[in-house]
Amino acid sequence: MSGNLFDLSGKVAVVTGANTGIGQGIALALAQAGADIALVARSDASETVGLIEGTGRRALVITADLASTEPCERIVAETVSGLGRLDILVNNAGIIRRNDATEFTEDDWDAVLDTNLKVLFFLSQAAGKHMIAHGGGSIINIASMLTFQGGIRVASYTASKSGVGGLTKLLANEWAGQNITVNAIAPGYIATNNTAALQADETRNRQILERIPAGRWGEPSDLGGAAVFLASDAARYVQGHILAVDGGWLAR
Ligand code: NAP
Repeated sequence: MSGNLFDLSGKVAVVTGANTGIGQGIALALAQAGADIALVARSDASETVGLIEGTGRRALVITADLASTEPCERIVAETVSGLGRLDILVNNAGIIRRNDATEFTEDDWDAVLDTNLKVLFFLSQAAGKHMIAHGGGSIINIASMLTFQGGIRVASYTASKSGVGGLTKLLANEWAGQNITVNAIAPGYIATNNTAALQADETRNRQILERIPAGRWGEPSDLGGAAVFLASDAARYVQGHILAVDGGWLAR
């Protein structure tokens, strides 16, 4: 290891939902810190591949639909066979469905809980078993402001992201003694496909911006530093923490 606590050289990271948005921003930051990246995506991930290869690191695309737990073991196996090891897992893939609580459908409940919480757990389980057998690693879950707050018209999303906070602490409790750090990043309002409807709504956009002390939407690249930190040796004694990267939203 180099003297740089944040150096990820020689490590391999799996990033889910890495074709766009926050996943792309985190994948690029981890590569810039030295890691090779397995990009898990159901859509074309060639843009992210180009960004990672531009840093001189290797990118492996693993095509998988994270609507079910079916690909979890395969993702770990393909990462290890393709890139030689697995040190870091970033559980980023997620969806949101909006409706009034009185109208919320079972389909919108199940779809969000399955991808955002169930698959996050079982992919962590598959990666965690590998990390335990190979001396440790780091797991970073992407939480939300709605890990802390209630939100409105997003019942299944709030339930899922509140659950992500709980699971982050549970897995840290179980695996801290196995040299695995488990933490979460809670992004504030970040300009991605996930928030396109909010950005397009003039009233909501203004209300959101008025409350963010930084006075702007976050960019996917704003999450990179937190991810590198939590993936690195600099965070080796940080466990079960949910790190808000929100331009000050929660401080208001
Ligand atoms: P995004 O641009 O919509 O990205 C979501 C990613 O998840 C995409 O790569 C998407 O793939 C992938 N994904 C969703 N369902 C999938 C499935 N069944 N199989 C495989 N991949 C799937 O939104 P984002 O804002 O970057 O979201 C990334 C994470 O950050 C999510 O967990 C989200 O909840 C969280 N987050 C976002 C914000 C924000 O303000 N943007 C705030 C807090 C938390 P496709 O492109 O193929 O759909």
